[in-house]
Amino acid sequence: MKSFLLASGNAHKAEEFKELFHGKLGVNPSPKTLEVDETGKTFTENALLKARAYFDVYKVPTLADDSGLVLEAFPDLLSVQSARYAPDLKEYSQKCERILSLYAEKNITNRNAYFVCVLCFYVSEDEYYFFEGRVHGTIGTKLQGTKGFGYDPIFIPERKENDGATLAELPEWKNEFSHRAKASRTALSFFESSSEKIV
Ligand code: IMP
Repeated sequence: MKSFLLASGNAHKAEEFKELFHGKLGVNPSPKTLEVDETGKTFTENALLKARAYFDVYKVPTLADDSGLVLEAFPDLLSVQSARYAPDLKEYSQKCERILSLYAEKNITNRNAYFVCVLCFYVSEDEYYFFEGRVHGTIGTKLQGTKGFGYDPIFIPERKENDGATLAELPEWKNEFSHRAKASRTALSFFESSSEKIV
C-alpha cells in the first residue's frame, strides 16, 4: 500500500484521511507538528509549502492539505487566510457572526461562496501531485446547526433538496460531498489507476 506522512501532527486529521481513502492509502500523523509559514497566495502554493517542509525533515513521501472558504463578494477576506481571519475573535461562531454582519451592513446581495481543498502528495523533490475539490453554495443569514466546524454553520451547499440546510446540519452529506471528500476521491482514483509504482 502506498503510504504518506501527513504534514500535521493531528491524529484526528490522519484518521479522517484514512477513512476518506477507504484504507487504500496509508496516512500516518507526523511525530511532531512543524511550524510552517503559510505565505502562499494560493491553496496550491500553501499545500506545497507544508508538504515540502515535512518532506525536508522526514525524507519520506508526505501529504499536505490546504483549504478555506472563498466569498465571491469579499474574495480576499477568508480564502487562503480562512484559518487566520479575525484573530481578535476566539470562537468560530463569533467569526461567522462578523461575516454575516459584513453582508448586512454593506447590503450585499451576492452571497455565493465555495469551499476549496487542495491536497499535495509530495513523493520527491521532482515528483509531486495536486488534487482539488470544491463545494459551491451560498452564505446564509444566520448560524444554523451544531455539527462540523469552522464556517459550516453559515454555509448552505447547493443540493437538489434546496432546503436551506447548512453544512453544520448535514454531517453525512458533508462526508460524501465536501471539498475534502472530492479531492480525496480524485486522488484515490489517480493512485489506484496509476500503472507505474509511484511510492
Ligand atoms: P488550513 O488548516 O490552513 O487548511 O485552514 C483551513 C481553514 O479553513 C479552517 O481553519 C477553517 O477555518 C476553514 N475550513 C476549511 N474546511 C472547512 C470545512 O469543511 N468547514 C468549515 N470551515 C472549513
